[in-house]
Amino acid sequence: MTTRRKDHAAGAELPGPASELFPERLRRHRSVPDRFRSAGKKPLRVMKFGGTSVGDASCIGRVVEIIRTASRESDVVVVVSAMSGVTNRLVAAASQSESGDYKSVAAIFGELHQQHDAAANALIHSTAERSRLGRKMTELFQEGDRLCQGTILLRELTPRTRDALSSLGERLSTPLVAAALAERGVASAAIEATELVVTDACHGAADPNMELTRERCEARLLPLLQQGIVPVVTGFIGAAPDGVLTTLGRGGSDYSATILGAVLDADEVILWTDVDGLQTADPRLVPGACTIPEVSYREAAELAYFGAKVLHPKTLRAIMPCGIPLWVRNTFAPERLGTKITPAGSPSGAGVKALTAIGDAVLITVGGPGFAGVQDVLGRTFRTMAAVRADVLLISQASSQNDLCLVVPSALAKCTVEALRHEFAHDLAHEPMEHITLDATVAMVTVVGQNMRSVPGTVGRTFGALGRDEVDLIAIAQGSSECTISFVVAKKDTQAALASIHREFRLGNPLNRTLAEDENYYRLCEPLQVNVQTNHHPDREQ
Ligand code: ASP
Ligand code: MG
Repeated sequence: MTTRRKDHAAGAELPGPASELFPERLRRHRSVPDRFRSAGKKPLRVMKFGGTSVGDASCIGRVVEIIRTASRESDVVVVVSAMSGVTNRLVAAASQSESGDYKSVAAIFGELHQQHDAAANALIHSTAERSRLGRKMTELFQEGDRLCQGTILLRELTPRTRDALSSLGERLSTPLVAAALAERGVASAAIEATELVVTDACHGAADPNMELTRERCEARLLPLLQQGIVPVVTGFIGAAPDGVLTTLGRGGSDYSATILGAVLDADEVILWTDVDGLQTADPRLVPGACTIPEVSYREAAELAYFGAKVLHPKTLRAIMPCGIPLWVRNTFAPERLGTKITPAGSPSGAGVKALTAIGDAVLITVGGPGFAGVQDVLGRTFRTMAAVRADVLLISQASSQNDLCLVVPSALAKCTVEALRHEFAHDLAHEPMEHITLDATVAMVTVVGQNMRSVPGTVGRTFGALGRDEVDLIAIAQGSSECTISFVVAKKDTQAALASIHREFRLGNPLNRTLAEDENYYRLCEPLQVNVQTNHHPDREQ
């Protein structure tokens, strides 16, 4: 069997100035059509559709048109999420089972069954095909029911069962999308990623074994592609080497797509979602925010980590070593070209690309005069945070070891503060005042841009703008990679802070770039052109 494997480009590990790390061919990917026009060979695109993109029959209809268009000029592997809201309902059913509430579980399964039946009835007209799909769905619901019955009996929800239950959404949506494609004349095959993506056994946050996954994908998917069949693969899931189903974590279908893209050496991965790509800021908070045409892997990873919810934080990991371009595009406005994410990105005026804000975070302060004689405050604080697996978003330390500010997600606030108070209880037993405090009225804003390091004055301009606009700062930290500057403000000041910096760096069109520049950019990278008529735009994905 022939494989698609080409010479893999040198590793694109981070950080470091882009020009040192990335060979020219990685930095400026030739456009996909260009590379193949001469070779007479079709490019390979992995296209992932998120929950809202497959939210109901009419959305799936649009998805089918996008795939149909793409499959004319390229080989396509499709990855699908569960229909929007379904995974949340399945997770709720799992929790209800643990508390023994079969009635609620049955009600959830009843609703979900109806929702999937309705979509199948609207999309599939052949009676034989509809009943085949109906039987498949019934089997999956019976499997879900058995898992819940077992959990109710034991009153224990194991991570393995939670994964098996939450994976049902993708296992239901995948055959539906495959059948809808066949209905429109696109040969397709529904495939469960348990056959393809080999992971470790870390349920709920599994990581892939890329070599084993590559072998499986080459053996299973390449023959289909060679026959002109579009494989439609479940996002979000994989299996441990012993075959037990695992999940990659909530929102993990993005990661599924880049894993498949990397092991198949795809020419592009496109994440089809319900927004126009990565934005310069959340448009609900900054009215002038606009789509960024190109960002680097590093910038996109920082944006994903610091609160721009468009990408799963691990998405970039899979493609970083091979330099495959990743697009984020809008299923509901497929004529817009979205954001292209490349190893080195494109330079932008002042180096600042985008802003993010995390509102559901808290500020924990460890310090005060009582800490003057306490030994190893830093070490003990970090060990304690690690023990409760607190994800630290920002750290800032005053001149002495005795005053430390930490920002953590709200969900971890209580257990982190309790653990720290416990750790230092003995040292502070005679202190009348509490020295470990928690402030939940804050937000964290992050300024992201890989080229900030080479543009002097970015920090000065950032804080100068905030000063002029009278936004008070509570804590500040700059990433040592100089790719981010983060600071803490009162929650009520979030919008003012974002607007102030957005204005200062002219991030909104047309001040920063002209439309002609954007058009020129898109012309050079020749994205897949899709024109599908759309008339409604659903709520954003969660
Ligand atoms: N369906 C899964 C979730 O809701 C995975 C995904 O949509 O990416 O988390
Ligand atoms: Mg998502």
